[in-house]
Amino acid sequence: MTAPVTSSAPLTDAAAPAIRIEGLHKSFGPREVLRGIDLEVHAGEVVCVVGPSGSGKSTLLRCVNLLEQPTAGTVRVLGTEVTHPDVDIDAVRAHVGMVFQSFNLFAHRSVLENCTIAQRTVLRRPRAEAERVARENLARVGLADRVDALPAQLSGGQQQRVAIARALSMDPALMLFDEPTSALDPELVGDVLGVMRDLAEGGMTMLVVTHEMAFAREVADRVVFMDDGLVVEQGPPEQVIGAPTHERTRTFLRRVL
Ligand code: ADP
Ligand code: MG
Repeated sequence: MTAPVTSSAPLTDAAAPAIRIEGLHKSFGPREVLRGIDLEVHAGEVVCVVGPSGSGKSTLLRCVNLLEQPTAGTVRVLGTEVTHPDVDIDAVRAHVGMVFQSFNLFAHRSVLENCTIAQRTVLRRPRAEAERVARENLARVGLADRVDALPAQLSGGQQQRVAIARALSMDPALMLFDEPTSALDPELVGDVLGVMRDLAEGGMTMLVVTHEMAFAREVADRVVFMDDGLVVEQGPPEQVIGAPTHERTRTFLRRVL
C-alpha cells in the first residue's frame, strides 16, 4: 500500500531547481548510455533536449523519475534526491507529469475516466472534484466535447492531448515530454505542439525531448544537444540551433533542418 499523496505535500523546496542532475551515468549491461550528465532545470524554464537517435535522451528523462535506476550520480527533483535509497519515489512522481511517444491511455475507459483515475487513486480526490479538474484540463487541450469518447474513437493527436490533460489533472510541478509528437501523422502534430506552447507560456516547467526544431527554437528557454551519452552543448536556442559551436551539433542540425 502506498500512502496517499496530496499535491500540497511538503515536498517542494521552492529554492531548489526543479531538476538538478549531477554526474549521471547509466549503463545497460556493458553499454554505458549516459556517460556523465550534469543538467539543471529551473522553475518556469522550458528546456528542450535534442540529439541523434540512441544518444540517451529517453534514458536521461526516465532517470528523472526513476523509471530507470541510474548507475552513478545524483538526481534531485524539486529538492528531493530521487537517487537516495530511502526516497519515496511515488510521492515525487505525483508531482511530475510525464507524456510519452505512445499515449498509454486505458483503452476501455472514457476520456474523462482516463483523466480521473490517478487523481482518485493517488491524490484521493473525491469523484466530483476529480471530474471538475479533468473537464477543466480537457477544455484546456481543446477536447471539452469528447469527454465520453473512448480512446480508439479519437485521432492520435487527440489521444496525445488526453494524455497531456491527464498529466495536468495531477497539478504537476513539472512536466517531462519524450517525443510527444513522433508517433503522430504530420497533420496532427501542430495541435499537440500548440497545447505544449500554451503550457510553456503559462509558466509550466518543462523538460522536452523533441525532434521539432521549430518548436525548440520558438518555445525553449534553453536547448540541450546530446550525443553519445553526453551533453555536447547547451544554451539559448538562437545559439545552439542558430550558431552551434560544436561540429557534432552542426552535423546533427544539417541532417534534421
Ligand atoms: P534516444 O532516446 O536518444 O534515442 P535512448 O535513451 O532510448 O536514446 O537509448 C540510448 C541507448 O541505450 C540506445 O543504444 C538503446 O538501445 C539503449 N537502451 C535504452 N534502453 C535500454 C534497455 N532497457 N536495455 C538495453 N539497452 C537500452
Ligand atoms: Mg528516445
